[in-house]
Formats: sequence, structure tokens, C-alpha cells
Amino acid sequence: MSAPAAATPPNPALFDAVIGQERAVSRLMDAARRPVHAYLFHGPPGSGKRVAARALAAALLCPDGGCGVCNSCRRALAGSHPDLVTVERTGAALDVDDAREITTRAQRRPLESSRQVLLVPDVHLASKAAPALLKTVEEPPPSTVFVLLADDLPPGLATIVSRCIQVPFTAVAPRVVERWLVDRGVPDEVAAAVAPASGGNLDRARLLADDPGFNGRRQRWRSVPGRLDGTGATAVTVADELLGLADEALTPLRERHARELAGLEEQAEAVGARGVPGRRGVEDRHKREERRWRTDDLRMGLAALADAYRDRLVATVDRDTPSGTPGVDAERRAASGHVDAVGRAATALSRNVWEDLLLESLMVELSGMLD
Ligand SMILES: [Zn+2]
Repeated sequence: MSAPAAATPPNPALFDAVIGQERAVSRLMDAARRPVHAYLFHGPPGSGKRVAARALAAALLCPDGGCGVCNSCRRALAGSHPDLVTVERTGAALDVDDAREITTRAQRRPLESSRQVLLVPDVHLASKAAPALLKTVEEPPPSTVFVLLADDLPPGLATIVSRCIQVPFTAVAPRVVERWLVDRGVPDEVAAAVAPASGGNLDRARLLADDPGFNGRRQRWRSVPGRLDGTGATAVTVADELLGLADEALTPLRERHARELAGLEEQAEAVGARGVPGRRGVEDRHKREERRWRTDDLRMGLAALADAYRDRLVATVDRDTPSGTPGVDAERRAASGHVDAVGRAATALSRNVWEDLLLESLMVELSGMLD
């Protein structure tokens, strides 16, 4: 079967929804004209991999090479084109059964287009299934193009990685997140506060922008230096309260998850299925997203706390008192010691530590170096 209009460059507007990923987009524009058998998009959550995969699929499925306006393009962008096949994993990891399903799907003929695009998310969770996947990924039928998505690239994936064209995605720059939010009607001051707390994750940015509790949580983190009184009891109380804030932060995400499940239930009912197929997998994903969300919120809080201490540092430097004055020097040392301690805790947070212990010991440490 001949490829559709291989030489026609796709309409760049197809990639309009891919934000802050110029290098990835230019690679994909190229890929759309001369596609190979498999692409691996890798980069952090919320960096737009799935949106980009739909845009590439639109270009590959469109009879005009990605015009951006036809019915085929519109359905691919919406994720509803029958030749854009997404295989979601059914359990906590992508396992051998999922790999078998992917292999079967890869062998099918496209329904409407001259190709099909097989989209496989969460490939970073496929280390165990990698050997089972390898053969089909390296040599699918000529009418199948793989687009694999991965948040990172664990060593177990090395062989699969080497068989794909890699397209790296990066965390979206805070100023790009801010502009994106403003373009979507978020007030300037909310966008400015949310962007640095988003960690370059557009999903998180959008949820935070809609979260009325966000600013209040940030303020409570910023108020910590004024509340610590040098006693261990207060330190522990404050730590508990901050952990409670991270739980409160989950509300908008949980609402989104409930909506997603309700939608799936509706779809299942419409086709007469008993229960939602793959429900356990969806719920597992929700749990993982909640864990990550909570950690991200703690990271946001630690950044706000470091800012609060930094402001104090600036305040002592701004004072006219020359350095060499004993009291002032001690105050400055203490303030920069606080900033360092918070920075160390933020680093430790990335290493899968117990978050409650981490926060408690940080509060005790900060409390012990009161200025
Ligand atoms: Zn089109």
C-alpha cells in the first residue's frame, strides 16, 4: 500500500496544541513526511506527549498528509479516528498480556487510511514485557506505525529504545506555562503564581489554576518561619498541618478522576458492557497520579518556604547595619542556613523518602536554628 502524499509537509497548525516543545515538533513535522516503523516520545508527565502523538497520527492518517482541516485530521486530533489505536495497559505495569494485545493489534489492517498508528502510553512501565514487545516494535507490518510514550527510560527498555526514533520532550518552561494559562483565560496574577509551582507540567498547571485552595496553601507554607517557636511540639504540629495541606491539594485531581470513571461507565453502558473494561488499570493509574500529585504539591510548598526564608535574608541585607555587627551576621547566617535546609529536603523528596518523616525532621531542624 502506498503512503499518503509522503512529500507534502503537514499543516503546522496540527501541532498548535503542543506547547513549548519546538524541537520535538520540528522532528515530528519531518517524521510526518518520511515516517519510519516506530517512534518513542519520552519526557516528564504533562509535557504534551499524548497531544503530540495525536498530531503526528493526524498527519500520518490524513489522505493529504496532514491538512489539519479534514474529517480524518479532526478525528485523529480528538483521539477518535479508528486507525489511531491506543492500547492502555490493564494493570499497574505494562505486562506480557498487554504486549500480546499490542502484537495482535499491530497485525491488523487499517480500516480507513492506508496506515494505522498504534499508540502505547506508559512504556516506562514495560520493562518486564520488553522482550515480548521487541519483535513487533522492531518489525511491524508496513502499514503500522508505533508511537510509544514514556515518562523516562529505565535500563530495562534499552533494547526497545534502540529500535525506535527517539523524540525527547522537556518540562515546559515556567514562562511558557504562564503564557499558556493566560491564553486560556486564567487571570494574570493566578497564572504567575501557578506557573512556577507546576513543575513544567501542563496538566498540573491547569488543575492548580482551577484550584481555589492553591493560593491559601502557598500562604500557609510561607507563614511557617513565623510560627516555629523553637519547641519540638510546634515543629511536629506544623509538619502535620503541612502534610494535611498536601492531602487537601488532591481534591481537584480526585474530582477529575471521578469524572473520568463516570465517563467510562457511561461508555460501557452505551455498548452494553458489564462494568468498565480495564477498570483496575484506570484506578491504579489514578492512585499513582495522586501519589505524584501529592509529592509535587509538597515540592511546591518547599519552594514557597524557601522563598519566604530568602525574603528574610534580603530583608537583613537591606538593613543599613554594616556586616561585622554580631547580631546581624548571625541573623544572615541563620536565614541562609534555613534556605539550604529547605533545599536539601526538596532534593530528598525526589528520592522516594517517607514524606512525613522528611517534613518532621525538616521542621525540627528549622526550629532548632531560629534566628
Ligand atoms: Zn486532513
